[in-house]
Amino acid sequence: MRLYVFDDFRLGVGVKGDGIVDITALVSCDLAPENRMTALITEWDHLEEAVRRAAGELHADHALSEVTVRAPQPFPRTIVAAPVNYLRHQAEMGGAGGVYADANIKTIETYAGFVKAASSIVGPDGAIELPYADRRVDHEAEVGVVIGRRASRVPRAEALEYVFGYVPLLDITIRGEEDRSIRKSYDTFTPIGPAIVTAEEIADHTDIAFRLSVNGEQRQTSTTRHLIYDIPRLIELYTEAMTLQPGDIIATGTPEGVGPIRPGDTVVLTVDGIGQLTMPVIDRTDAR
Ligand code: MN
Repeated sequence: MRLYVFDDFRLGVGVKGDGIVDITALVSCDLAPENRMTALITEWDHLEEAVRRAAGELHADHALSEVTVRAPQPFPRTIVAAPVNYLRHQAEMGGAGGVYADANIKTIETYAGFVKAASSIVGPDGAIELPYADRRVDHEAEVGVVIGRRASRVPRAEALEYVFGYVPLLDITIRGEEDRSIRKSYDTFTPIGPAIVTAEEIADHTDIAFRLSVNGEQRQTSTTRHLIYDIPRLIELYTEAMTLQPGDIIATGTPEGVGPIRPGDTVVLTVDGIGQLTMPVIDRTDAR
């Protein structure tokens, strides 16, 4: 199933033919609208059957093209992310010609992880806003994992039971000396969407293929087969430290090919079986 947040933070499920059926009424009307997806995921055991029925309806309430598609999880409590989780990305970050020239870049085996501010989420209705004209900001194409149930000290053998679904995710990054938690947490630095695809639709989490282009030119292409720590191991690693809650997101890391983006660019991330996220890039001073 493909789950959307659209218009005034309404919940939708995809039906045949690029339409959506409105399922907002399944969650409490007392919630702040941006918390509806968290509530849907939290109550999934009770709601799944009703959502599946809606997904099978023959008539859509809306065509996707007629609504404003927002980030499918506007307000996770935590976003935790994997640093240097692909070997070829390690190679391009350090060394003589690296992004951080001559730096000794280690991998996730040393760095483990970092937390991104939840406020950095943006959806296809927004734009990546670059804060400074004179600083390099890079795209990082990633597969996002959405947590389905409260997860604390989860062994990797059980980890997939805690996966609700997957989402295309960009880990936008300003290069420099500041801590990752600042450089990757600027507003709009975590675009996700257009939909969360529920886990049962993904036959093999160890081979999710994805690619990213800027202005039509391909910059990154890889698959989760090349992850240093795969998805179950990431869940084990992070829940050893912190309790993850329904709707929280893990950014699994980016492969080689990262590069700068500039105002006027269009970034397109395509994750096979999950979706295509298109994001314009603008100067922050031009934002609303
Ligand atoms: Mn990243």
